[in-house]
Amino acid sequence: MKKHNFYAGPSIMSQYTIRNTADAVIDFANTGLSILEVSHRSKEFQAVMDEAQALVKELLEVPQGYSVLFLGGGASLQFAMVPYNLLKNKAAYLDTGVWAHKAIKEAKLFGEVDVVASSEDKNYNYIPRDFVIPADADYFHYTTNNTIYGTEIRKDPETPVRLVADMSSDIFSRPVDVARYDLIYAGAQKNLAPAGATIVIVRDDAVQAPCRPIPTMLNYKTHIDKGSMFNTPPVLPIFSALQTLRYYKELGGIKVLEKMDLEKAAMLYEAIDGSRIFQATVPDHEDRSIMNVCFVLKPEYAELEKQFMEFATSKGIVGIKGHRSVGGFRASLYNALPLESVKVLVDAMKEFQDKL
Ligand SMILES: *Cc1c(COP(=O)(O)O)cnc(C)c1O
Repeated sequence: MKKHNFYAGPSIMSQYTIRNTADAVIDFANTGLSILEVSHRSKEFQAVMDEAQALVKELLEVPQGYSVLFLGGGASLQFAMVPYNLLKNKAAYLDTGVWAHKAIKEAKLFGEVDVVASSEDKNYNYIPRDFVIPADADYFHYTTNNTIYGTEIRKDPETPVRLVADMSSDIFSRPVDVARYDLIYAGAQKNLAPAGATIVIVRDDAVQAPCRPIPTMLNYKTHIDKGSMFNTPPVLPIFSALQTLRYYKELGGIKVLEKMDLEKAAMLYEAIDGSRIFQATVPDHEDRSIMNVCFVLKPEYAELEKQFMEFATSKGIVGIKGHRSVGGFRASLYNALPLESVKVLVDAMKEFQDKL
């Protein structure tokens, strides 16, 4: 049966990426060798790295003076690397969920952390507004898309201090004004590639003179100076990332992806809002994520959760169990998910409701 993959991460990848990766595992760039067994210093792999970096810059219109890195350690390592390199005295953080919270915890190891606002009071089901970023902060950090709670900030903020963003689960889903940011990071396993690589887009001059001695591997400058090849990079995820980036370009770039993503999200939210038995967990439409749609059964139907899950499974729907801190359901609508899969989910929701 055809599967409809709504996993939050690792998550669906385009067939183009999967097939080309499979081919390269057998024979990489006509070398007669597998991508798994060639030197990262070979000219064939260097070409992969160069093109992947160039395509990130092209697709996101990254201005001059920035580097694109593919690092190991996941987005979680960036929670520590960012303050290690940039937090001299004080940093400002917006607390919008589990991932933001984890980033705050790491930052506290390096200096004062000013949490400018938090939506924890309502289990992170909204985006806080009207907060003030202190002008004496070394930087402001926020999470653009809260993968677990299904909230998202789709407008690049204007800040009086350096701006850092965790874009792990919505990078490549909208145009970004990169010039406003000093550092953007994103784990690959949501909108790009298999787990194992993290994209970092960093303004070179923001990390030239770190405020403390930093171990070589955790110093951004090390990786900038070596073109993201200081040590062995995550070769296979970078190869897959390149395939996805080519696919994105072929489709027409970020604006086309954004249009498709908005259409998918609108279809699902409309079905939820129009449903007798389901409701969205994020009330304010403006705060709703277009990547991770969280919904629950209304309290009077709550006991049907397991039943709906089984019904959805029978339709080939995979990965819609909500995160344990929210419950209910979460449908992740990453770029590679076809509209057809959203239709299948929406139809399943209607059919289930009509049978009650
Ligand atoms: C998944 C996720 C992370 C964690 O990524 P890892 O690569 O597992 O470290 C961090 N931030 C956000 C927003 C995420 O969605």
